[in-house]
Amino acid sequence: MESKIDIKEIHWLMDMLQTIDVGLVVLDRDYRVQMWNSFMENHSGLTPAHVMGHNLFSLFGEIPEAWFKRKLDMVFELNTRSFTTWEQRPYLLKFRTYRPISSPAEHMYQNVTLIPVGSADGRIRHVGVIIYDVTDTALGKLELESANDQLAQLSRTDRLTGLNNRGYWEECLQQEFARFQRSKAACSLIMFDIDHFKPVNDTHGHQAGDEVIRVTAATLLNTVRTTDIAGRYGGEEFVVILTDTDAASARYVAERLRKKIEALTVEYEGKAIDHTISLGVAELTPGLASHQAWLEQADQALYRAKEGGRNRVVVHAEPD
Ligand code: GH3
Ligand code: MG
Ligand code: MG
Repeated sequence: MESKIDIKEIHWLMDMLQTIDVGLVVLDRDYRVQMWNSFMENHSGLTPAHVMGHNLFSLFGEIPEAWFKRKLDMVFELNTRSFTTWEQRPYLLKFRTYRPISSPAEHMYQNVTLIPVGSADGRIRHVGVIIYDVTDTALGKLELESANDQLAQLSRTDRLTGLNNRGYWEECLQQEFARFQRSKAACSLIMFDIDHFKPVNDTHGHQAGDEVIRVTAATLLNTVRTTDIAGRYGGEEFVVILTDTDAASARYVAERLRKKIEALTVEYEGKAIDHTISLGVAELTPGLASHQAWLEQADQALYRAKEGGRNRVVVHAEPD
């Protein structure tokens, strides 16, 4: 039986291609537009009459030309499909999204498929570009990632002070200990505790005590470098890892912090609260067996500072 092409069927097919909610573009070997469906017209604002026969790159300056040509040429030469996802490149053509103002998407996210379109003689003279609007999926994924980042951030942070919490800080300490085994770069640790803090709570109330803790944390952050790793170790106990810092420099930093806190008066609901801190310093040395042993040295130095009369700095293995 002879196969006949039914003109009606072709019309139906063309109608479907026109109205489908996916962008369809056909390009020839010179990247000239040979087909432009209504999705493309609606989103670009350019009718087929505007674009037919025109070079895609001269129509849309936002397309990275070298990159997209390489992709198209590969499809022409190898007669194979090619894909790009929104995660590799958010979009091929910058289309606006018709979403509420509150939507964080400024543009349509697109997945793009390139398919070779064969001619009767088997040569590939055209490439079909199929553009999918994946904005909803992309936004869903991006929102989830951002929520996860925020959660991770929250789980690392102490609520009252915004410093690293104990758990996360200890992870950092462990990492610095491991790094030292390879790099041998100097690294020191300061542990300090607010002196006679119980009476602060008893005299001025817990809220005032909290404010003293917050101000102490802020002063700590103002005193160390951004690369140093500060944490709240306990109630009124703080720690900071000073990278690239030997014991002598760490003593200097600790002393500066001690003086700042001593000079400071915390104001809370009309009350003026003075406080001091005692500090223990320990430099990381090759003999130390673990990060816990390092921390233990700083803790012992802090204990000696308390024993020695408070409001002072003691460096491990140095006289008080
Ligand atoms: P020392 O000089 O020996 O360190 O004396 P201290 O009074 O500071 O020592 P102690 O460890 O006995 O007291 C710490 C107090 O800190 C007891 C506790 O009620 C208080 N504290 C712990 N966490 C918080 C907190 O988050 N907020 C407030 N306001 N107080 C806290
Ligand atoms: Mg204390
Ligand atoms: Mg304490």
